[in-house]
Amino acid sequence: MSAQTGPGKASDDDVVQDESQHHGVPEHVLSTLESDGSRRWLYPRLSLGNWWHRRRIVAYLLMIVFVAIPHLRIAGKPLILLDVTAREFTIFGRTFLPTDTLLLALLMLVVFVSIVLVTAVAGRAWCGWACPQTVYMEFLFRPIDRLFQGTVGKGGTPKQGRSLPLQLGRFAVYVLLCGFLAHTFLAYFVGTEQLSEWIRSSPTEHPVAFVVMTATLGLMIFDFMYFREQMCTLACPYGRFQSVMLDEQSLIVAYDPVRGELRKKGKHTDGDGAGDCVDCHQCVVVCPTGIDIRDGLQMECINCTQCIDACDDVMDRVGTPRGLIRYSSQDSIAGKAKRLFRARTIVYPLMLILLMGGLVFAITTKSGFDARIIRSNGAPFTVYANGTASNEFRLRLVNRTAQQQIYSLQPGAESGVEIEVLDDAKLTLEPGDSKLVPLHLKFKGSLTRGSGRKVVTATIRDHSDNVREIQFTLLGPR
Ligand code: SF4
Ligand code: SF4
Repeated sequence: MSAQTGPGKASDDDVVQDESQHHGVPEHVLSTLESDGSRRWLYPRLSLGNWWHRRRIVAYLLMIVFVAIPHLRIAGKPLILLDVTAREFTIFGRTFLPTDTLLLALLMLVVFVSIVLVTAVAGRAWCGWACPQTVYMEFLFRPIDRLFQGTVGKGGTPKQGRSLPLQLGRFAVYVLLCGFLAHTFLAYFVGTEQLSEWIRSSPTEHPVAFVVMTATLGLMIFDFMYFREQMCTLACPYGRFQSVMLDEQSLIVAYDPVRGELRKKGKHTDGDGAGDCVDCHQCVVVCPTGIDIRDGLQMECINCTQCIDACDDVMDRVGTPRGLIRYSSQDSIAGKAKRLFRARTIVYPLMLILLMGGLVFAITTKSGFDARIIRSNGAPFTVYANGTASNEFRLRLVNRTAQQQIYSLQPGAESGVEIEVLDDAKLTLEPGDSKLVPLHLKFKGSLTRGSGRKVVTATIRDHSDNVREIQFTLLGPR
């Protein structure tokens, strides 16, 4: 066996050491649980192979995208803003309201079917390549651990992790990074302007936001410092659904037992009849979820490719072809032919095309503006001495055109209702703008006689001849 001892490459000594460590530990019942019920802490070794380099590029790009998105604008509107309090969702510069039920439902279905399709074709590519848990854990927080624990470039059991100053230093860096990530996360829900205003003001001026921020920060520190791989193996439902979303043709990270056996666990199998697996355990010691890929497809496998890199390195050193662990499918490993066209790869894309077509159609044929009536808080109606009554409403207007619009309201001729706009300036909306217009509706008290309510209509139009009819439910004396 010729040794390669560059960063991330295991030397022969390392291999022997790791192997002896493996055989020295008590048997565990789960990858993160010892037989005595205690947590089995994982300190995966690092294998700097080809796949790791590719994943690192993708991970850093995704981190940049995550931080950049709240700052990006399309025609003055955020690229993504999930304003839960105002019940408005801006996606790619387009604002969706709760009234956009069909659009939101189609959008959710497109996302859902896309996930199912990608999983059917490329397995858990999301988990290994793009999930924030994996991206930040493996490419931000574990490198910090290695820095403070003296295992830079190769990972594994901490060497200097016991010293108090180093522990505190590590914790401080975690708090800073999680604080930055928590603020970025919050920016997706409140926007960068609001966030920077909050940052510059006292927490007492925005206590709810401060509590949300602190809770997010605490959860992130808990997750990345303590919970770690258990998020994938215990908490995340995605892995549990993989058995129904994958089929035998789906791409997975797989060990080739036909080529690898006969190995004998715990013993090298030099000699006739031995397979290519030298039972060095390098694929196990690099695994961030602590499993042995040679035991077959497992729920805990996040397809991170670290075992591919580790095993390829071992194969290079023992002079056998790479790929004992590789991207493959259950059928390919069993020697069966690839089938690109199968029920899942035909039905899912068809569904996706239909849904996306429906979404594009619904968006492009949508009216130039949205109008939604909201009843104001306070008394349901007011009755005056002269027998007239009034109701207060707010009109949510969203300008979906690319021009500035000035809106006008016209009550239905039959109703005998007067509509007074309490703030005329709010009828002028910039492209993509959304405003709440306060309205005061006056009508004869006799209009609601009998049931105490009456539905009346009004027409709203803009300068581009977009017209919508809206309905008010008036409440008044019986
Ligand atoms: S599969 Fe590869 S890395 Fe894993 S024990 Fe066998 S030879 Fe070593
Ligand atoms: S088995 Fe391999 S691909 Fe799966 S999580 Fe472990 S190292 Fe990653």
